[in-house]
Amino acid sequence: MQQVTTIKDCRALVQARRACGQKIGFVPTMGALHDGHLSLLRQAKADGHETVASIFVNPAQFGPNEDFALYPRRAAEDAALLEQSGAGLLFLPEVQEIYPHGFATDVRVKNLGDYLCGPFRPGHFEGVATVVCKLLNIVQPDTAYFGEKDWQQLQVIKGLVRDLDMPVHIVGVPTLREADGLAMSSRNQYLDAVDRAKAPLLYITLCDLATKLCKGGDIAALLKTARRGIEENGFQVDYLEYADGETLVPLRAHLKPARLFVAARLGRTRLIDNIPVA
Ligand code: AMP
Repeated sequence: MQQVTTIKDCRALVQARRACGQKIGFVPTMGALHDGHLSLLRQAKADGHETVASIFVNPAQFGPNEDFALYPRRAAEDAALLEQSGAGLLFLPEVQEIYPHGFATDVRVKNLGDYLCGPFRPGHFEGVATVVCKLLNIVQPDTAYFGEKDWQQLQVIKGLVRDLDMPVHIVGVPTLREADGLAMSSRNQYLDAVDRAKAPLLYITLCDLATKLCKGGDIAALLKTARRGIEENGFQVDYLEYADGETLVPLRAHLKPARLFVAARLGRTRLIDNIPVA
């Protein structure tokens, strides 16, 4: 695996691979890699792509009171994991490379970024859309892979690529979970033992709620009871929502394709999860 830190070198090496007839599959990450990240890489390889991964902790997607400074950074371990997983190229830019002096552009996908996490993380999806737009322009992959764990982010990126006619295919990869159901996340390592034991309750609650919704119960009442159950276990719930999986608009009637979404804090750790409601 080759490693580069500049846009110029990244473009040159991707171009060299493309010139050999390879299709490029791109996996952007913020590092502190776990098996969820590596599942995106495995999918890219299974699809027959030469894989390019990036690690960039994007300051633009963190709010002033969020965990940018604390976010785990372990480039050497991550590079070893990517190498073992068969990645061909790792792009590891510094902040100045992505946001040089005078950088002044903000990419905003209207509506999709305004629901669910939007009100709780002002500016977050603009930060995501801006950096993903840049990374896609730098790497120019045939296909880019994103996790369904960040379902809203995936919809924002699909919207951005569609609206700006970017010539890349976006693939969503199912959420990889720990044995007890907790969605894998770089932020799980913030949890102490007591909170780690509680954390799977989010997924358990979503699954239970999905079963009840499928049987046609009262949506508002079911959401309220489930939310209280989570709160009684010490979570601070930002939202627990039943929404259209494509538009993300909250649903008050049973329509397809519907999903359940949750965001809740345990201590200083904010966890998110979502599942389809079949
Ligand atoms: P991050 O490093 O958190 O920005 O995540 C990089 C990519 O990995 C994003 O597309 C995430 O949605 C994806 N991802 C993170 N956790 C998981 C997971 N548990 N299962 C599948 N994909 C994931």
